[in-house]
Formats: sequence, structure tokens, C-alpha cells
Amino acid sequence: MTQDDLRRAALKEMARVEYFNRQELAAWQLDRLNKQLAHALASSSFYRAQKHALKLPTSLSGLDLLTQFPFTTKEDLRDQYPFGFLATSQRELVRYGESTGTSGRPTSSFFTYEDWIRGNVWVEAALRHYFSPDDLVFIAIPYELTFASYDIDRALEQQGCTVVPVGTLNQICPFSRLIEMMRELHPTGLVCTPTRALRLFDMLVEDGHDPLQVGLQKLLYVGETCSPSKLRKIAETWKIKLVTAYGSTETNSLALPCCYGKSHLSEGRYFFEVIDDISGARLPAGQMGELVLTSLCSQAMPLIRYRTGDLVAIEERPCGCGSPRRVLRHHGRIGEAVEVGGAIVQKLTLEETILATPGTGTYYAAGVRDGVLHVMVEVTEGRAAEVCQDVREAIRQAHHLDCVVEPVPRRTMMAAMDSMLKPGSLQLDDLERVACLKT
Ligand SMILES: [Zn+2]
Repeated sequence: MTQDDLRRAALKEMARVEYFNRQELAAWQLDRLNKQLAHALASSSFYRAQKHALKLPTSLSGLDLLTQFPFTTKEDLRDQYPFGFLATSQRELVRYGESTGTSGRPTSSFFTYEDWIRGNVWVEAALRHYFSPDDLVFIAIPYELTFASYDIDRALEQQGCTVVPVGTLNQICPFSRLIEMMRELHPTGLVCTPTRALRLFDMLVEDGHDPLQVGLQKLLYVGETCSPSKLRKIAETWKIKLVTAYGSTETNSLALPCCYGKSHLSEGRYFFEVIDDISGARLPAGQMGELVLTSLCSQAMPLIRYRTGDLVAIEERPCGCGSPRRVLRHHGRIGEAVEVGGAIVQKLTLEETILATPGTGTYYAAGVRDGVLHVMVEVTEGRAAEVCQDVREAIRQAHHLDCVVEPVPRRTMMAAMDSMLKPGSLQLDDLERVACLKT
């Protein structure tokens, strides 16, 4: 098959999946799952070894029976670097990428053209609700060793947008040039993390410009989850429409927006489960837990029960757009929770409490120091002590925690974030590092 044939087949399959009802989708997923298991257990050296060691079945009579399979973890991916999960010949690959986690050991991922285009047509269809040939779009996320930028880039190009691949944290287009280009080119669309979008706004202000003169209309944000209050503040600051896409380096897109802005799971390419991240038990519909995925049509890198490390809930209620694919609610990363005094507070829940307090800005950092929760927050109104006291009281009421809350100048926050790939993951340590540099 030519590449054009493969694209046509992918478009046809997408249209078919989108018109299934839930029962038809489940039956189709089971058929796909069995084909994928047979492929993985025969062709991937990692799963082939697991099949022999654990006597795994190559066919299931129901999707629920997938729980017989062990989880695949990020650690497995690290151990099998670079090609232990490869289930085709290397000659068939068209894309290779890597990510590095906190341990610094890389994980690899790769696609055949069919894998790549199968994912891309869904991105293209989703973004069609938001972008048109009239749009000039800056893509300000990394292009090096990743897929998301190229996936979005290609999807926008297919729709006739003018794509400007500025990337991020690179020498060719540092932020100073990026904001200059924003002033000259007047992008209507921007792709970046939400915190980066805020930071670009600030940089324009610092340079003496009115950011609203850029004429930005929409932000496709990726790579960071935010509380409703933070998203609202970003939308109000830039006076733009926000929409999000969710994915991972191992898989590309996993949830994409519909015309109502809801994030629909990529159930045409993956089977999803939600598990208790401690016990590993599958959770009932609607409950919050760790997202686990199994690929349904991956040639190069099939994954069985891969633990994403993302905290989510899946809505069972159908969306008004008519898609049979369920809606995802993302609640952050599992490891992002703040643990203090035996209590665990999810980062986004805490963020919502802090940023919903009147008088707070959009930047903050929270962490535990000597067993006590510390919050450093930007205050936009003059009464800093009062706002900090209000935040402390809001945290006490919402989470039953005592804490220390201090105001931090926006300038300090911004200095700490400028060297970060994901400025939304700002920690107390980052602020302290900046403070040290100053003294
Ligand atoms: Zn929808």
C-alpha cells in the first residue's frame, strides 16, 4: 500500500469508529485487541518472553479478561531501551522519539507510517473544529525527539493553516525573538503549555507592548493540566478560547477535543482502564484513578496494560457531539500529590483552592518544608498579607491542613520558570534557586 492508500484507510476506519454505538465499539475493540495480543506476543521480544514465563493467552473472550495480563510500566520501557518493544523490523519505522524521566534513563518509542498516520488523522479531525486556513499558528513546544509537535504540525498543515514551528527553549528562536515574531506576524493560534502562554503575555508587557494587539484568538494547550481557576485566568488574561489535547511520548494523542471542547478518549486506537494506583485493581466507571492503556492497532510498539502515571476519571455519560468515545477528565500526575501530616492533596485540587481565592494571580508553588505545607503565591492586589491569610483559611477549610502562605513577586516566579521545559511544574526549590542566584 502507498502512503496515500494508508491515509485513506485510516480516514475510513476513523469514520467507521465514530459512527459506532458503545456496544459496537466494544465488539470492534475486542476483535482488535485479540489481533493486537497475537501480534505483540509473537513479535515483541518483551511480550514474547512474558508469554512464555506467564503462560499468557493470545485470545480473550471479553475485554474484562485483559486483567489476566500484568501491567507494563515506565521501568519496563527503560529496561528495554532502545528496541526491546519493537514488534516489526526497524526498516518499517518512520519515526523514533525519546523521553527522559526523573531518573535520567531514556525511554524510546517508534511508529511505522501506518501507526503514525492512524494517529494523525484523529488529530486533524479534532483540530478542524478550532482551526481553519485563515489561521496562522505558532507551535511553541519542543520539536526535538518528540512526536506531539510534529503530529499537531501536520494536522494543522492538512487543514491549510500557516504553521510557524518556533519550538521552545532553543537557540534559533529564543523567547525574545518569539515575542518579536508574535508582534510582527500576529498569530491567531498558539500551541504551548498554559503556563508558557501566560509567560509570553508577561514578556510582551515587560517589553512595553500590549499583548492584546497580537490578536491571538485561541490556545491549544498541551503538556500540562490546570485547575479550572487557572484556565479561566489564562482565558481572561489573553481574551482567548482554550482547548486541550492530551497524549504521551509512548503513544501520541490519547484524548482530543470535540466541537463542545470535551476531551474524548482515543478509543479507536486504545483500550482504556482506570485502576487504583496502589492495589492495581480496576476501578468502577467514573471513579478517579490511574489511566492504563492497551494499544489496539500498533504495529511497531504494541503496549499491553501500560500504566501512564496520569490521574484521571472517565465519564460514562454520552457527549452531545454524538461520538461513542468517552470523555476524559485529567486530574494531573500521580506523583504530583502533596503529602503532609498523613494527608494527601492532589496538586490540581490544591491549585484550585489557591487560585480561586480572590486577590491571587496565576503563579504559585507549593511543597512541604519540615512537615508543614508551604505555599508561595503571586498576589495581584496590594493587600498581600490579607490575601495570604485568605489562602491559608481556604486551604484549612477545604483540606483540613494548616500551612504557611507567603507572597512572591511575579518577577521571581517568572525568572524561575524561564529555563523550565514545563513551567507549570514550578516547585519551591525552583524559587529558592532563583533567590540564591540573586544574593
Ligand atoms: Zn463531544
